Amino acid sequence: MADAAVLNLGLVDSINAITLGEPGSRTFNLTASSDRGEAIVWMEKEQLLQVGITLKQLIETRESTADPVPFDAGPPGFEPPITAEFKTGEMSLRHDSGSDVFTLRTQDPGGSEDASAVVREIEFSFKRADAEKLSEEILRIVAAGRPPCPLCGGPLNPGGGHFCVKVNGHYTGQE
Ligand SMILES: [Zn+2]
Repeated sequence: MADAAVLNLGLVDSINAITLGEPGSRTFNLTASSDRGEAIVWMEKEQLLQVGITLKQLIETRESTADPVPFDAGPPGFEPPITAEFKTGEMSLRHDSGSDVFTLRTQDPGGSEDASAVVREIEFSFKRADAEKLSEEILRIVAAGRPPCPLCGGPLNPGGGHFCVKVNGHYTGQE
């Protein structure tokens, strides 16, 4: 996959988890913007939850840096400003310990027939404070009033259990 297909927003000014629609048929996206452009990445609820939980674990396991170096975002990939939107497949999260910056990379699975959909991957980076806000926002949105799991922070099902990442995806609860 050519590097030119990667839109790199760099360090974003804002990143939000957004949900639209009625309960039961809600859709979810992450919307991020920087001086390089804006990206809307649609995903399934389970994918968004995974981002929230993985981010939370990364925040907890990666020490913050007392004296962070400036973040090197790398080239934008496209001539800014650009707006891109797709429904994501694979995603990956990483933490740069030198700058204490988190980066989410999302990948269009390639199902789009739209010839103008030249952006195949979108990458955006955010500081620790934004990462904390985002993970809390995601867990709150996905949970939609359901109590959090004491182990991983993910939302419990109405029955009280769920497939918990902290016990390697085993079902916790009564059923
Ligand atoms: Zn759990």
